This record gives sequence, C-alpha cells and structure tokens, in this order.
Amino acid sequence: MSAQTSAAPASVNRAGKPRLATVWLGGCSGCHMSFLDLDERLLALAERVELGASPLTDFKDFPPADITLVEGAVANEDNLEVLLRVRARSKVLVAFGDCAVTGNVTAMRNLFAVEDVLDCVYRQSATVVAGLPLGGDGVVPRLLPRVRPLHELVRVDHFLQGCPPAADRIFDLVVALLEGRTPELTRRFG
Ligand code: SF4
Repeated sequence: MSAQTSAAPASVNRAGKPRLATVWLGGCSGCHMSFLDLDERLLALAERVELGASPLTDFKDFPPADITLVEGAVANEDNLEVLLRVRARSKVLVAFGDCAVTGNVTAMRNLFAVEDVLDCVYRQSATVVAGLPLGGDGVVPRLLPRVRPLHELVRVDHFLQGCPPAADRIFDLVVALLEGRTPELTRRFG
C-alpha cells in the first residue's frame, strides 16, 4: 500500500515556494485538527510553502498544488467530483488519515443499504425538516452506493495512516516531500 512514485522535489510556483493544499472529504476534520497541532512548526512550514486550497483558506476552486493532503473517504457525489479535480491538479497526493486510506469510520455505513441509512437519519430521527433533503436543488449531495477509500478511485502517491495521524508524522511527511525524500511511513493503524 505504500507509495510507488518517485520522491521528486516539489516544484516552485510564482510565489517562489511549493504550494501545499489540504482537502476535507468524508471525514470528521480530526486529521486537520492534528495538522493544526503542529503549533509553532506551522510557522516553520509557512516559511517553506505557500498554503493553497484548504479549509483554512476557503478557496472556492482548487488551484494547482505540489503536495495535497486529502482527509476523508469518498462518500458522496460531491466528494468524488472534488477528488477527481484535486487529483488532476496535484503533483503529489497523500491519503491523509485512516478514512482516506481505508474508509475507516466513514465507511461504517457500508454495512447498510443507502436507503436504510437515509431513512434512519432523515425519516426516523428527530428533525425540523421532514423527509430527504435530496432532489433538484442539490441541498445534500447524493450518497454513493459505498463509501470508498481514495486509492479505489484515483492514484494515491503516499498513505499516511492514523486516526488521526500524529502531528509529528504529518510534519515529517511534508518535510520529506519538500526535500525530495521518500517519506518513512509505517503501517501502524490508529
Ligand atoms: S481518520 Fe479519524 S480523525 Fe481523520 S477524518 Fe477519519 S475519523 Fe476523523
């Protein structure tokens, strides 16, 4: 499951720094919280990269990136569309955390049929809006039949396991990629 790509150094964009992006698909944001746990090392990282699209910057589109960390599995049509765009515009794509790597918590709904999941959440549970919020207005993206990890849908260059991955491991991975080294990734789960 480890990376098969070479560890070519990230290229430099117009700002003179490689561009790092982070994406949040079907995940709980815990992986991004762990990224923020870099604390003062975020400043060190900011010296070396330009932060591109991210929940932290809220770009409405996805500018090309040298390194992209993708949190979360692919649970709905919106996730899939974003992932395909991100893959096309990223030189190095990292499955960031166990949901992205295996499906993990997000994929627990694969034990049930989609209709049963929707029925439980939107019809049987207490809500202020009765019925499914689906339909022509696109309020809620349509669920895929199965939640899927990233590598089932696109090429993944590196897999960073953990739920969430520890900040130290995130930092080591990003620095290794910036320096053109192959990240030392273990198969540790959790
Ligand atoms: S891997 Fe864990 S922390 Fe990260 S999005 Fe999934 S459940 Fe949340």
